[in-house]
Amino acid sequence: MSVTSVSPSTVATRPRLIASLADKKLFIGGRWVPAASGRSFASTDPATGDFLAHLAEGNAVDIDAAVTAARQAFEGPWSKTKPFERQRLLLRLADLVDRDYDEFAMLDTLDMGMPITRSTAGRQRVVGMIRFYAGLATAIHGQTIENSIPGSFLSYTLKEPVGVIGAIIPWNGPLSQAVWKVAPALATGCTLVLKPAEQACLSSVKLAELIEEAGYPAGVFNLVTGAGEAGAALAAHPGVDKIAFTGSTETGQAIVRASAGNLKRLSLELGGKSPDIVFADADMDAAVAGAANAVFINCGQICVAGSRLFVERKIYDEFVHRVADIGRQMKIGSPQDMQTQLGPLASNEQLERVMGFINGGIQAGAHPLTGGAREQTGALAKGCFVQPTVFTGVNDNMAIVKEEIFGPVISALPFDDIDEVIRRGNDSPYGLGAGVWTRDVGKAHRVAAAMRCGSVWVNSYLAIDPAVPFGGYKMSGYGRESGTEHLDHYLNTKSVVLNIG
Ligand code: ADP
Repeated sequence: MSVTSVSPSTVATRPRLIASLADKKLFIGGRWVPAASGRSFASTDPATGDFLAHLAEGNAVDIDAAVTAARQAFEGPWSKTKPFERQRLLLRLADLVDRDYDEFAMLDTLDMGMPITRSTAGRQRVVGMIRFYAGLATAIHGQTIENSIPGSFLSYTLKEPVGVIGAIIPWNGPLSQAVWKVAPALATGCTLVLKPAEQACLSSVKLAELIEEAGYPAGVFNLVTGAGEAGAALAAHPGVDKIAFTGSTETGQAIVRASAGNLKRLSLELGGKSPDIVFADADMDAAVAGAANAVFINCGQICVAGSRLFVERKIYDEFVHRVADIGRQMKIGSPQDMQTQLGPLASNEQLERVMGFINGGIQAGAHPLTGGAREQTGALAKGCFVQPTVFTGVNDNMAIVKEEIFGPVISALPFDDIDEVIRRGNDSPYGLGAGVWTRDVGKAHRVAAAMRCGSVWVNSYLAIDPAVPFGGYKMSGYGRESGTEHLDHYLNTKSVVLNIG
């Protein structure tokens, strides 16, 4: 694989960006305040190990202040806003995010190593997502319901905002994850406390600045940066009505337990180990590229990565060699470089985890057709770089095949027939996504219907849109994000029954 150097022109924007955020603190009740403990934590660049910024380390005390501010705003002016006003504010926010999008892209690139081409390409999705929810802000409605109650009764439903939302997000798509929680909350008239991941919170700080600039009333949006401890305090807080969470299945389970005290509503988008199924009749060029992209994009740090690659046996050898060729030829380098296709993993912790899986796979007898090691050429030795890896010689019981790795690692498994691959594809505690590559429409529909997961992509992978629901079956979580039904998670239904004589 080839290795690229850092581009001086992109690096030049870095000090200005970081300086603008370095003195930022927590955003609570419309004010920037230090953490109650006075503590801060360091954010570092996973490509170089360099220090980026100090961020305020919020804890349970700050969470309590933020929840109190959110409650006051919810019961105060925000509860009286009309849909047009919520729409206007969201459209204003969308314009501001669009205006500053290049800065957002660079922040995510610096903070978690996302290649700049990928972070930049997210503009349409992120800005479009805010506008999608802005549209929905004016489309919330209950129903009038014919009833059989003796006499004359009118019955109808009202849709009311759930209240104070605790939004807890991971580090693998910092801006888009934040927007995916913030926009539906603001569209429905909820207020919220956002707790971004400690590994990548710069873009959430920037988003808070723009929410302030957009003119939201104080307390409608609050930001508490900090570690898992702050997330745990939010999940347990009796003043929070709902937690919207994306992250690991283990943390999702901890949130379920913590939420029991006041029976919070929950939506959970958790881990995955998704099957990507290639039949011999597929468009080979498209399927090879799609299978590689389904894992190598974002260095495999995607919950829905198609990391179990099932290939029909008669094309298996040729297919996996071609996927391995793509991995071998990927340009690994500074995520700030426009030529880079594969950046670093987001942290040393993630590097250790991924290398643990890779080494464990090799010890268990899997064969890395390509990759299988860290990338340590020249300056890359200081960063969290791992070679794109394609394993053959694997079986369904190996840890690399069963467990979520969250790295650029594909396990390629041969199969012989459709029933077998459906059974093996579904044989996982997870159920987030699946891919199917075939020219046979009947086969495509049959597999799509049989997969026990929230999204199935046919002759594509990872095609995500704000209007199309996304979420998990089984231990990949519950609730759906995107789509009109997403708003239901932020709304209560109240039934009103009137005796009208
Ligand atoms: P990962 O293992 O990929 O870092 P996590 O699920 O641990 O994913 O983290 C996702 C988010 O959940 C982060 O914002 C993190 O700080 C937060 N978090 C971690 N532990 C807890 C917890 N016990 N309760 C609530 N949030 C938590």
